[in-house]
Amino acid sequence: MASAYRGRFAPSPTGPLHAGSLVAALASWLDARAHGGSWLVRIEDVDSPRCVPGADHEILRQLAACGLLADEPPQWQSHRRAVYQAALEQLVDAGLAYPCACSRQDITLALQAAGRERTRHGQLVYPGTCRDGLQGRAPRAWRLRVPPGTVGWTDRRLGPQSQDVAREVGDFVLKRGDGLHAYQLAVAVDDAAQGITHVVRGADLADNTARQLLLQRALGLPHPSYLHAPLVLGAGGEKLSKQNGAAALELADPLAALVAAGQTLGLVIAAGNSTADWLGKATRAWPART
Ligand code: GLU
Repeated sequence: MASAYRGRFAPSPTGPLHAGSLVAALASWLDARAHGGSWLVRIEDVDSPRCVPGADHEILRQLAACGLLADEPPQWQSHRRAVYQAALEQLVDAGLAYPCACSRQDITLALQAAGRERTRHGQLVYPGTCRDGLQGRAPRAWRLRVPPGTVGWTDRRLGPQSQDVAREVGDFVLKRGDGLHAYQLAVAVDDAAQGITHVVRGADLADNTARQLLLQRALGLPHPSYLHAPLVLGAGGEKLSKQNGAAALELADPLAALVAAGQTLGLVIAAGNSTADWLGKATRAWPART
């Protein structure tokens, strides 16, 4: 019987895959295979100014070279803006989202005036200025009305997690001033639309989970389970990323790339004859905890 498991790898095409993003791709593929489930690829190009032309197809070529093939045609978020807009309107109609007129500078000034300039990963914690109306100012962005209290979930690797989103993040953006829908909204909508039951991604994204759980709840969507995989660290202990110049994955030796990615995931499996052979052994070695 086919498993109900549906997993996905959701790269942002801001550059080719590097050693760090391959770990996330491999972890999600192995978890899907070990559960006898389906594995999907979603190109997260909703933030179009950050995308690099051609990076989407390059990523798909790199995945294919490593033997990581999706079970369904890949989906592009940029084709789905109408769906994100409908979700936003559902939230607005339910009184759960509101327009915001604040610029970054307005937010900084409001926080300074309140004597609590707080940031989280470089983002200002929104003080709620426009929660009760725009006071005649022109709307720029749309935000979720975050309920007070702690959001908790159990990560399959990290264990029990919790975040007080209202206090630590504030009412977060669903649609930006430049008219683009935010990552949080697009991911929550797409994970549900694609029937994703298990999210497996890099630990750098764990911090987004509480926001996505809140959005799922507000939109009446199911909650997938979450596993945040270890990150590949650079020489200085920093997370390897396209932003800090991580080298693109070398297509000439995909087997060596898989072996290295497997090691980050705690899988010590010799290269063997082929990517298919290695992936088979890695699937059998993967601890398919649910
Ligand atoms: N597109 C996000 C990234 O590349 C990943 C989103 C996710 O897996 O939820 O960082």
